[in-house]
Amino acid sequence: MSEILVLVEHVDGEVKKVTLELLTLARSLGTPAAVWAGPGITDDAKARLAEYGADKIYVAGADEIVDYVVAPKAELLAHLVADKSPAAVLVAATTEGKEVAGRLAVKTGSGVITDAVGLGEGFVADQSIFGGGVNVRSKVSKGTPIIAVRPNSTAPVAAAGAGTEEQVSVTLTASARAARVLERVKQEKGARPELTEAAIVVSGGRGVGSAENFSVIEGLADALGAAVGASRAATDAGWYPHQFQVGQTGKTVSPQLYIAAGISGAIQHRAGMQTAKTIVAINKDPEAPIFELADYGVVGDLHQVVPQLTEEVVKRK
Ligand SMILES: Cc1cc2nc3c(=O)[nH]c(=O)nc-3n(C[C@H](O)[C@H](O)[C@H](O)COP(=O)(O)OP(=O)(O)OC[C@H]3O[C@@H](n4cnc5c(N)ncnc54)[C@H](O)[C@@H]3O)c2cc1C
Repeated sequence: MSEILVLVEHVDGEVKKVTLELLTLARSLGTPAAVWAGPGITDDAKARLAEYGADKIYVAGADEIVDYVVAPKAELLAHLVADKSPAAVLVAATTEGKEVAGRLAVKTGSGVITDAVGLGEGFVADQSIFGGGVNVRSKVSKGTPIIAVRPNSTAPVAAAGAGTEEQVSVTLTASARAARVLERVKQEKGARPELTEAAIVVSGGRGVGSAENFSVIEGLADALGAAVGASRAATDAGWYPHQFQVGQTGKTVSPQLYIAAGISGAIQHRAGMQTAKTIVAINKDPEAPIFELADYGVVGDLHQVVPQLTEEVVKRK
């Protein structure tokens, strides 16, 4: 079977969950080959990639791959596309992943699909476009299909691959060195999962009522091991930081479970969450548009419903 390149997302030597999802997806369509860009690969990371089906692990460990912004990763992948003729290249549909995908498409003269939420036979991708208002199926018709897949689009399933390591060196062009990274400041990471990667997201909106009341949302999130999100009404009011805003001008999430509490369901909010697998809405207005989208709805005051829900979840642990 043909090789499918999967660009590994990693932080501090740890492979991110989205990469395991992409390897699982790649396995259903060909032979997955992981591409590790930058220094710092560990034995644990290699074992993890092999555990989820990587037959090959291409390691480009030179510092300069991460010394410059994004472009070196696209050049590395373009080098591998020319050298290995893979059937497709999969990257995570993160901000960086999508930029890598776009640059790679230009370099290889290939078509690119971003924000795929599913991928099937013949690399036919399901896409959610125009702010999530339209679902389409698309297929790359030129070059090597380059597909950016949203985190949580598929559940990662382990199935061992050979994990054979192959070192790769690539000579970067001057244009790839155009923007150098001068400093990296590590963001304080809380105990909660990263919003765009989380399997469960609990979001609060204007109905939460105040910054202090967001502790109700956080309580349920912590009981479920979830990330916290917020509507723009809540972030604009200063009740929750903007980095947690879900929607058209915030983050796009695609979790297994999305709980929206005190959120009306404006189109701009939907744009960031409507590809969630299961949506639960808690709203005191039975006519709230979010109920049109929800799989399960609770009509009630979130200040009563959410604490009860949290209590039940904690009881079952
Ligand atoms: C260009 C543009 C971009 C935008 N981008 C975004 C975006 O990225 N993300 C985003 O979210 N919005 C975005 N918006 C704003 C969007 O249009 C809505 O104004 C916003 O989503 C509303 O947030 P909300 O649902 O929290 O508030 P509201 O629409 O005010 O809804 C509050 C809901 O809470 C319910 N409620 C009130 N009290 C309770 C209670 N005690 N218990 C239960 N329910 C209660 C109400 O019934 C109501 O349905 C954007 C708008 C524009 C114009």
